[in-house]
Amino acid sequence: MTQSAQPSSQGLQTADHIFYSLTRSICPHCRKVIDAQILLKDGRVIMRKRCPDHGWMESLVNSDAEYYVNSQKYNKPGNLPLKFSTEVVDGCPLDCGLCPEHKQHTCLALIEVNTACNLACPTCFANAGRGYNLSMEEVEGMLDSFVELEGRPEVVQFSGGEPTLHPQIIDMMRMAQDKGVRHVMLNTNGVRIARDDRFLAQLDQVRPFIYLQFDGLEDRTYRILRGEDLVETKLKALERLAEIDLDVILVPAIERGVNEHEIGAVLKFGLEHPAVRGINFQPVTHVGRHQEFDPMDRVDIPEVIKAIAAQSDGLFLTEDFVPVPCCFPTCSAITYAYIDEGEVTPLPRVLKVDDYLDYITNRAFPNPELDIRAALEGLWSASSVPGSQAAIQGFSCAGCNFLEQENIDLQKLKKHIFMVRIQDFMDAYNMDIKTLMKCCVGQLVPDGRIIPFCAYNSVGYREQVRAKMALRGSAR
Ligand code: SF4
Ligand code: SF4
Ligand code: SF4
Repeated sequence: MTQSAQPSSQGLQTADHIFYSLTRSICPHCRKVIDAQILLKDGRVIMRKRCPDHGWMESLVNSDAEYYVNSQKYNKPGNLPLKFSTEVVDGCPLDCGLCPEHKQHTCLALIEVNTACNLACPTCFANAGRGYNLSMEEVEGMLDSFVELEGRPEVVQFSGGEPTLHPQIIDMMRMAQDKGVRHVMLNTNGVRIARDDRFLAQLDQVRPFIYLQFDGLEDRTYRILRGEDLVETKLKALERLAEIDLDVILVPAIERGVNEHEIGAVLKFGLEHPAVRGINFQPVTHVGRHQEFDPMDRVDIPEVIKAIAAQSDGLFLTEDFVPVPCCFPTCSAITYAYIDEGEVTPLPRVLKVDDYLDYITNRAFPNPELDIRAALEGLWSASSVPGSQAAIQGFSCAGCNFLEQENIDLQKLKKHIFMVRIQDFMDAYNMDIKTLMKCCVGQLVPDGRIIPFCAYNSVGYREQVRAKMALRGSAR
């Protein structure tokens, strides 16, 4: 694959791209760590790299070069963890982690308590199936290690496989709360919640935040992504979660040609549902099980933002979304809105959020405004949990002028705040190690290490952990 060019006025050949930066990546075929060029071409951002064994390849990094370049100004200094767990030996991304070269602490840690599932989704980054169940002792060790590294951890998300199948999942979540984790989340497909009264009653006791797989409102979407019709099951799960007043974040995986057209419908549905405090749209990451795809044509953050603007009848505009500064700002974008009797007011319409979170061209603010910046930093973070006290306080501080004008009772604010987030995980095709080094979402593994989530899925760590766990003889 040679570089493309066209004749210039001096008779030289002009490249058809701007050479933007040089980074490192991995080969999607053999996972060798290789150099990668980041090119701006035809309004898009392309990664161009060469593996000595598999040759040249190109993949889409971002569909909107202007968005990508502008987002760099939201990159804020990281906060380092209290301790690191590994040494720098082979270089990133082979020393996870976190190794002393990592640039950010872990805002949100996942614990995969099992590998089994009650669905067999054709799209499953975790490649769920036969594998392991963690023991209470193993989870306790992981939580203790996380507390040692983080002090008072912000968010632990219990995941799998399908974590609701683990016989001790309720005790595990309670244990995390007892150890001082501020927000405990359950990442679930909702099937057991829809069907099991006893489990629902147990959830009511522990009251985790629910991170619910919710890809759309059409059966076709679920047939393609999940292998079966699930709309009724999802609606039932949500209805039951509303009955016990748990806070839910809908998590739609968005795949090219499958459900891009449902983005607005899911958003409007979430805005109206009494249990839903936010939506986290996730373009499908092509690891584990997934459909055939073209690495040059994938859904990403700017595309989802544009779809939201196009499909939400003006409720949200592209300018309402601001990149998240705590991780690398190309990883995620967020907005919050105040909802009242069907009226939706995005926070960036009443406060210049992007001015406060711009760390490069930003002016010095007087002290009261620094409080607003701190509130916005809390909201624009992977550790922000819609429905939590922290999110309510952050929103009430950031939106204080607006809320005072509107004479709002802050106690009732929770049900009026709505978060919309887009999170774009990297796969081996578009893995940018510069981005990975500031990751703030980590996988806690049984030996106490924290592996940045995109590295865990694409570099080979998941397979290593699974093989090691299988050897210890608890295969399920
Ligand atoms: S991703 Fe972070 S922890 Fe892992 S090797 Fe790179 S710098 Fe170290
Ligand atoms: S995507 Fe989730 S629900 Fe589907 S098989 Fe994988 S773990 Fe189970
Ligand atoms: S998990 Fe991936 S997309 Fe998310 S913050 Fe980490 S590097 Fe960025």
